[in-house]
Amino acid sequence: MDLLPSKNSTSYYKGNLHGHSNHSDGALKPNEVINEYKNLGYDFTCLSEHLWKGEKFANEVVLDTTNLNENNFIVIPSAELHCKGKQYVNNGLWHIVANGLPVDFTCADDKERAPEMIQRAIDSGAFVTIAHPEWYKLTFDECISVSHAHGVEIYNHSCHIEAARGFGTATVDYLLEENKKILLTATDDSHFRMADAGGGWVMVASENFNERSILDALKMGKYYSSTGVDILKFEMQNNLVKVVSSPAEHITLVGQGARSLSENGNNITEAIFDLNNIDTNWFRVTIIDNFGRFAWSNPIWL
Ligand SMILES: [Zn+2]
Ligand SMILES: [Zn+2]
Repeated sequence: MDLLPSKNSTSYYKGNLHGHSNHSDGALKPNEVINEYKNLGYDFTCLSEHLWKGEKFANEVVLDTTNLNENNFIVIPSAELHCKGKQYVNNGLWHIVANGLPVDFTCADDKERAPEMIQRAIDSGAFVTIAHPEWYKLTFDECISVSHAHGVEIYNHSCHIEAARGFGTATVDYLLEENKKILLTATDDSHFRMADAGGGWVMVASENFNERSILDALKMGKYYSSTGVDILKFEMQNNLVKVVSSPAEHITLVGQGARSLSENGNNITEAIFDLNNIDTNWFRVTIIDNFGRFAWSNPIWL
């Protein structure tokens, strides 16, 4: 059984789910951001502008990106939604990324809190993820309160290079231990005030090359996240999980509790894990290469 669609049968599209232009606090104009991602070899990107009122870093309206679409490049209408009620961050604001958002989606008011705002974004059809949990110190109580989101950023590139707080592993695994069927994403959160583009992305196995199909594949978890490593095959037969990747040093499988399985070596490209050796009702795979670059599978539920 294929845990990710085979690259022979389905096309994979490379995309950034989280980034900013000068519609909010990015340095470049929207069309300049698109050109940067086209030059980096991406197939799609998202201008997930800060949606909040009365602040310089944000805009009160979702950016309409319809006129930025091209035959071979898609821009998915998006926003980074804010609302009040977050602990441990100076302005008390939550950060929630919504991809595939209707452009008439309204800014939260002073009373709306993160669980309700996320539900409103899900109901509008968006793919909704919890942004940079490590960077702004999402507490375990907070992450449980928003676990109806589709996913969590397991990697946010700008938080990694600006604060060395770019990962979301602890949040992801805590939610999985609590039986929350959460997905994971790697993103740039690019603002172009420094070289912050092309650091974290998703590779989406989409039936067709259009916004609807990409969003459907994201919601179904038919993608992997990467900072430079490729997952070429991810399959399971009986209780054996097979992973084939670009050359790496560590291929790991984790599940419930503290136990893990791993294959380690120089330039390894394959690992086979026997699930009989790990007592778990879910697992996920992480691959690290000799440059410290990663790939992450989504969690698989048994
Ligand atoms: Zn943010
Ligand atoms: Zn952002």
